[in-house]
Amino acid sequence: MHVVVIGAGVVGVCTAHWLRAAGHEVTVIDRRANVAQETSFAPAALAAPALAVPWSAPHMPRRWLRQWLRPHGPVLLRPGLTPANWRWLLRWLGESRARQFALNQDRLRRLAVYGQDSKLALIAARNLPVTDRPGCLRLFRSERELAAAQAALPALAEAGFLVEEAAPARCRELEPALSDETALAGGLSLPDARTGNCAYFTRQLKYALVAAGVDFIFRAEVSTLDLSGGRPRLKLRATHEPDDPDATQGPTAVPATLDADAVVLCTGADSAGLLRRLGCQPGFVPIRGYSITLGIRRHERAPLAAVIDEATGVSITRMGNRIRVAGGVELGGPREPSASGPVPEALWHVLRDWFGGAADTACPQMWVGERALLPQGTPLLGATPHPAVFVNLAHGSHGWTLAAGAGRAVADVVGGVAPQIDLDGLTLASLRR
Ligand SMILES: Cc1cc2nc3c(=O)[nH]c(=O)nc-3n(C[C@H](O)[C@H](O)[C@H](O)COP(=O)(O)OP(=O)(O)OC[C@H]3O[C@@H](n4cnc5c(N)ncnc54)[C@H](O)[C@@H]3O)c2cc1C
Repeated sequence: MHVVVIGAGVVGVCTAHWLRAAGHEVTVIDRRANVAQETSFAPAALAAPALAVPWSAPHMPRRWLRQWLRPHGPVLLRPGLTPANWRWLLRWLGESRARQFALNQDRLRRLAVYGQDSKLALIAARNLPVTDRPGCLRLFRSERELAAAQAALPALAEAGFLVEEAAPARCRELEPALSDETALAGGLSLPDARTGNCAYFTRQLKYALVAAGVDFIFRAEVSTLDLSGGRPRLKLRATHEPDDPDATQGPTAVPATLDADAVVLCTGADSAGLLRRLGCQPGFVPIRGYSITLGIRRHERAPLAAVIDEATGVSITRMGNRIRVAGGVELGGPREPSASGPVPEALWHVLRDWFGGAADTACPQMWVGERALLPQGTPLLGATPHPAVFVNLAHGSHGWTLAAGAGRAVADVVGGVAPQIDLDGLTLASLRR
């Protein structure tokens, strides 16, 4: 079967791997000049099932409100929210009730655990370099926040996740460079959590897939999905992306149309147009987040692994000789995002609070990405109303964690095989129920 994957982010490229492993002929199409150029380019790098928590948690509305009202908070609702944005916020409040959250949490965790196992299997199958670092420390500035997180520990232990309570002195043993000028009530250490470079992983996987016979067509936007005939027909439009020195394909001619036996949409935050062709309006909105990646100036002041500042949800991750600060929630406003403004400013504050003086701030790599997020925080996998079109979408703030497992489950559905995990609550059909 010839399967076309639209979208070469981490989700699309992982899906292509599992489709190829199942014996299909696979073509991946992207409008950019290489893989991982949009939301998969510079996310926070955390991959841990214990951290796969939907944003629609009971404590989150109050936290967002607090952060929104703070002068240097990382939550920003821009003026001029659209009706879709307001609908999303109302649904999100509804999903934040304790009972609904527990259901969504269970679904997301199930996929995150499968994602972790599937990533290891994928790395072994394609012989990819392993560059992940172990360890993540959640830092709590106040006793109240710490106590609330401690209340969730029995459930995490029951689910088999290793989480160790860490008094401030233990936090400083794990991360000796933590500033002692910032209030620290305590931490939770996740020794099994991993951090890794999502874009690097996706590029390495692309090379392996090209060698395995997967076709990549870059600088080609799918403008329409023609479903009027028996097989899906994609209409393509060449884009004018600048050359990428790391791209495997030069500026080749883009075909006007492409026929497929099956199509998988892995189009991330910009999926609304193609979904409408299928008569679907699943209701996710793009929520912007930012990252700043910096070289290390003083190693003795830099983090050894990853920390999360729980008050703001901002993470600081060590990536070789660099540090990445990431987070923020920005809704509404112009579609064309800017890499400056209140949210990046909040990231700078969090970095200074915990690891002041560690980074060389002269040449920061500023980045903004759009998370496709459903109010319930779970992704959409598998079948659509059209029998030859499938989705692997709405990975929100956990796509790097989920991609390998989601791709595997969707490849199974495309091939008519029962997935190894229960997809209840993770499909378009369950959304309509
Ligand atoms: C600030 C921030 C921090 C994050 N931190 C983490 C983290 O710590 N851990 C974690 O697990 N996740 C994290 N994430 C989430 C993660 O980055 C995303 O879930 C993931 O990258 C989504 O991957 P994707 O492949 O679905 O989307 P993308 O990477 O955006 O890929 C979609 C692709 O589809 C292409 N495309 C779209 N429409 C078309 C079309 N019509 N024709 C051709 N091509 C098209 C685009 O060009 C793009 O390349 C974070 C996200 C942000 C913003």
